[in-house]
Amino acid sequence: MSSPLNPEHVELAVLLFPHITKTVEDWLAKYPPRQLPDGAKVTRFAPSPTGFVHIGSIMTSMVSRRVAHQSGGVFILRIEDTDKKREQDGSVEAIVRNMINFGLAPDEGFVQVEPDLERGAYAPYTQSERGEIYETFAKYLVERGLAYPCFATEEELDRNRKLQEAQRVKPGYYGNWAKWRTASLDDVKAKLAAGEKAVIRIRAPYPSEARVRFTDAVKGDLDLPANDQDMVLLKSGNRLPTYHFAHVVDDTLMRVNLVTRGDEWLPSAPLHVQIFEYLNQPIPTYAHLAPIAKQDGASKRKLSKRKDPEANVAYYYELGYPVQAVTEYLLNLANSDFYDWRKANPMTPNTEFEVRLDKMQVSSGLFDPVKLNDISKDVVATYTAEQVYDYVLAWAEQYEPTLADLLKADPAFALRVFNVERTGDQPRKDIVNWSDVHRACGFFFDSLYDAAITGGGYPFPATIARADVVAILEHMTGFDMAQTKDDFIAGMRAYAETNGFARDMKTFKKDPASFKGHFGDVMMVVRVALSGKTNTPDLYEIIHAIGREALLARLNRATSWAQENLA
Ligand code: GLU
Repeated sequence: MSSPLNPEHVELAVLLFPHITKTVEDWLAKYPPRQLPDGAKVTRFAPSPTGFVHIGSIMTSMVSRRVAHQSGGVFILRIEDTDKKREQDGSVEAIVRNMINFGLAPDEGFVQVEPDLERGAYAPYTQSERGEIYETFAKYLVERGLAYPCFATEEELDRNRKLQEAQRVKPGYYGNWAKWRTASLDDVKAKLAAGEKAVIRIRAPYPSEARVRFTDAVKGDLDLPANDQDMVLLKSGNRLPTYHFAHVVDDTLMRVNLVTRGDEWLPSAPLHVQIFEYLNQPIPTYAHLAPIAKQDGASKRKLSKRKDPEANVAYYYELGYPVQAVTEYLLNLANSDFYDWRKANPMTPNTEFEVRLDKMQVSSGLFDPVKLNDISKDVVATYTAEQVYDYVLAWAEQYEPTLADLLKADPAFALRVFNVERTGDQPRKDIVNWSDVHRACGFFFDSLYDAAITGGGYPFPATIARADVVAILEHMTGFDMAQTKDDFIAGMRAYAETNGFARDMKTFKKDPASFKGHFGDVMMVVRVALSGKTNTPDLYEIIHAIGREALLARLNRATSWAQENLA
């Protein structure tokens, strides 16, 4: 049985919230418990619409969504827009677009990009539209003496702060420093009659030696000092809630049972637990996730939206990382055993990997661009030539139109290029992302080959004499398109041997003085002539991709260049 309410508190609540006629029970009835299987997790991603989509947000929503779906639960997107000063136009759309792009569309909230596509029985999912709800819950607390109006001005708060500093006591609004905590009903009435606006503060126990103990799904067992500060629940003026209050009310009514959020909120978790307790509502499980960090000199710091381009999702789009690669990189950061799982299951969709909160790192994982690139290369290597073509084209249309034009001009040729070393047991792994295609495959296209040669010439091995370079290229003009790869190699080896080159490296090393070079040098001369580069996929496959006509044209051009430029 709950104790009878103090009539003064009730009167105060009516004075402060004359327009609130609903009760907490009404809202709880409107948003009843969900009918879900045992153990199902209801999670949410709750960004503030500040116009910037951080890669950490993609990671948090990915983890939240997977944990929900793995358990047969629900994943919500809630927009936390109570800080109107920080809000930017178009933010909600950007968030939704990115979530959809990453395959993270929510089950409830804004499920599509167009306006008014909020879905779900627990709507509205935008905090600024939930004012009446927050006021109802604040009224409930005032009625019970658990919250009170505070008319302290900025100047008074400032004076408190300075005195507290001088006296070396804890800063904040609490205990005896909290003047309005003990104000009489008459004092409050006088202020309200004078038209002054109050914030609503929680009445926290003070002094308090109490501890808050709970098991965080990531950080494990925690033991923190209880909150003793009379924190603001509703701000003055527009009566919007603070984050602390809003998330407690929303998670209660949206029946969220697992709060996954950044660990910057951990210090205020005792306040949140206190608000749940004051409202007499079940406390959800908390999972505080460490942010993605970056090595900065000797120290480690959070990826910063201001300093680090890689903090912004736009960075990954611009460089053309496949969404799957970024996703797998984030999975790897989330659960490091993803790596072994992927090795054991190279073609299984990553959605089948089970994400576990208890396997997440307690402290920040470092953003590692090398690892991202390695993962991305592996992912690209699993794609068919057709997939690569579609992805590169979509990327290039936006970021490298000249490449897009080349791909569209002769799709069959582009497919042959992307098919080079793609279908065997060891598919090529030289493409990091779509912006790397120009570097890795550009030379296949005549115009890009020409541009590279005009710009940089041919990096022929310095140890091979001009006459030998020219002779090797001349020999190559007899290339027979019908011969097999093995025959081509055998023929080149024989050519090398009969022309003063060692048949292999081992032979060469035994007696370098008696050879012009080795078989590898011969192949390198051909490679450089056909590509302008020293590092390419398989030569035989290159020749078949570009065709006989281009082969002869390139040999010709390289020969002229060698004659003019080599000593
Ligand atoms: N709006 C909060 C933020 O932007 C959400 C934290 C939470 O998920 O509870 O960090």
